Amino acid sequence: MILENRVALVTGGSQGIGRAIALALAREGAKVGVNFYPGEEERAKKVVEEIEGNGGRAFAVAADVGDRSAVREMVDLLSERLGDIDILVNNAGITRDSLLLRMKDEDWDQVIATNLTGVFNCTRAVLRMMLKKRWGRIINIASVVGLIGNPGQCNYGAAKAGVVGFTKCLAREVGGRGITVNAVAPGFIETEMTAKLSQEAKETFLQRIPLGRPGKPEDVAGVVVFLASSAADYVTGQVIHVDGGMII
Ligand code: NAP
Repeated sequence: MILENRVALVTGGSQGIGRAIALALAREGAKVGVNFYPGEEERAKKVVEEIEGNGGRAFAVAADVGDRSAVREMVDLLSERLGDIDILVNNAGITRDSLLLRMKDEDWDQVIATNLTGVFNCTRAVLRMMLKKRWGRIINIASVVGLIGNPGQCNYGAAKAGVVGFTKCLAREVGGRGITVNAVAPGFIETEMTAKLSQEAKETFLQRIPLGRPGKPEDVAGVVVFLASSAADYVTGQVIHVDGGMII
């Protein structure tokens, strides 16, 4: 168990990539806060039950990551229940796709609020406890779209490119305090988010993947566990591509 005695917070941890990350961190001994969007408690509770059924420890905690005061309350509650947070995985994310000319103000605002401001809110809320301990792992889930673009996703691509810039700036700020900050950029992973894509879009993505298959949430979770572990002690400010070779 390479993460024994560590406390992790996974945002958007009740399904898809976040769920796989929560389960994988717990399997390695971390106590896991499973964040969920308010009102969506059932799925988060199932993840907690699964972790506890395997002998681990977890706690489901509601907060819209875009809501600053809710995030502060979530972090306070979690540190009371499980201890100070050592590992933060900023995973919560949404898409509101449309071509730019047709993009509604709220589609821009919501995606930036969740996918970019959410990363700022959660990171700032946990950073002080990591600075005190002189140890921390911040892992941000970016996207291939923030690196090479995709038509219909200007809001999403801007937010994810922002996450990459945020990762690099903070890595330089806190490296001297034993805190690493990295991003993982998934390509095409089979989750609820990509289930919405048309068959045509899925096939176009598949043709671009040298490994010849879509990714699984577990493919991303494995890299997150690596970045959270001491095997990655000397890795910071990086963007690790988990995309089957989609961009080489
Ligand atoms: P997903 O299945 O749609 O899961 C997203 C999770 O985020 C859900 O649990 C959702 O909770 C939660 N969430 C959304 N808005 C939230 C908010 N404001 N506050 C708290 N939680 C919120 O998507 P996924 O595919 O697993 O994506 C996970 C991350 O990977 C995202 O950042 C996404 O951008 C990134 N990513 C995914 C792919 C892919 O191919 N799937 C590729 C590149 C990057 P509710 O369901 O309760 O709303």
